[in-house]
Amino acid sequence: MQKKIFIKTFGCQMNEYDSNRIYDSVKRLGFIKSKDQGNVDCYVINTCHIRDKAKEKVYHEIGRVKKLYKEKNKPIMIVAGCVAQAENQEMLNREPYIDIVLGPQSYHKINDLIKNFIKNNKIEETEFDALLKFNYFDNIENNNNNVSSYLTIQEGCDKFCSFCVVPYTRGPEYSRPFSKIISEAENLIINGVKEIILLGQNVNAYSYKDKLKEYRISDLINKLNSYSELKRIRYTTSHPRDMTDDLIECYSANEKLMPFVHLPIQSGSNKILKLMNRKHTVEQYLEIYEKIKKINPLIEFSSDFIISYPGETEDDFNETLNLIKKIKFINSFSFIFSPRPGTKAANLKLIDKEISKEKLLKIQECLFKFQLDMNKSFINKSTDVLVENKMEGQKKLFGRNKYMNSVIFDGDENYIGKNINIKIKDVNQNSLFGKIEKKNMRAA
Ligand code: SF4
Repeated sequence: MQKKIFIKTFGCQMNEYDSNRIYDSVKRLGFIKSKDQGNVDCYVINTCHIRDKAKEKVYHEIGRVKKLYKEKNKPIMIVAGCVAQAENQEMLNREPYIDIVLGPQSYHKINDLIKNFIKNNKIEETEFDALLKFNYFDNIENNNNNVSSYLTIQEGCDKFCSFCVVPYTRGPEYSRPFSKIISEAENLIINGVKEIILLGQNVNAYSYKDKLKEYRISDLINKLNSYSELKRIRYTTSHPRDMTDDLIECYSANEKLMPFVHLPIQSGSNKILKLMNRKHTVEQYLEIYEKIKKINPLIEFSSDFIISYPGETEDDFNETLNLIKKIKFINSFSFIFSPRPGTKAANLKLIDKEISKEKLLKIQECLFKFQLDMNKSFINKSTDVLVENKMEGQKKLFGRNKYMNSVIFDGDENYIGKNINIKIKDVNQNSLFGKIEKKNMRAA
């Protein structure tokens, strides 16, 4: 009988990419992906350390698994990802149900670990082997055939923002060889992928040198733009310091690069940016914004904000609010600062909880207003949608427009993978609802 594996993925797009690559790897051992969490031979929790209470979420999930398997054989329990990296041995000591703790730079060892697994022999693998990891995965086909697929080009971070765990959990910046990324992209395109989202913790810091030249993310975008079957290119997550002119120039030269820039700034106050060790100023951010808008005024921005970073005064907060009003970000993430053990900001004095909650509400009210305004601007207009899938349990189709808005509409599955025009009839903060335009119906 075939063995089954289930992966529960928390967190960012990179974890989603990693989980898919783990599936690709264990397939070689005869494992098949299971949708049933309660009946597998191997259970992986791919964890994320960015959000609050990340550790607790892992133990909670293990509690659920234990209940599911009360009367049955226990699966091999693997905790992978950034929490595994940060907590390592600690997790094995606290929770005997865990068999293997696997850091994000050690995924290439997963087949050997499973193959040689001996009951009650606890294993911790948390070395930073990004090179070995990617070498291993370069020889394993990426089986993803979704309409939109992630493609990791870079991992890790050397910037050490004082609030962030990434440099400790993912290690130093590592960029994959240009040719390997392109051959993975070609494989995805053959699989039917129509949109590639280049991924990295500092995706625009991508830098790979061979004998001929130094490749940057702009080279990857320019190359991907030349594949006729590929319709859209995106990249995430960027750092303002790496928004170099060659990348900005891509917005004028590549029609497939989507007009939507996710560029985290975290605060609108230079004082706070300095305390955060962000290595850029508000003015530098605005300069990037102006340059991109000059190329195409229809390009829109989204960002990440940390509210109540230790030391943030009312004035600092208002500067953030003013920046949001100036740029009118169309879709952003905002959180109250919460300390991460091991980071520089871990032990700083926190701002009062109630004050922080009030501030967050104020910021989100402003962000959500711009988001809704943007969505409303589509009403009674046509928007270009790449159709991704049929919605589960419904007859409706789901796709995204160029600005990453979710678009929901009635239609036939033949439209999946196609770009079609949808006339928008209604919107809410998160989605647009519409109808297929008649001219598409003739074309389908
Ligand atoms: S640049 Fe991004 S990934 Fe790196 S430390 Fe700062 S927030 Fe974390």
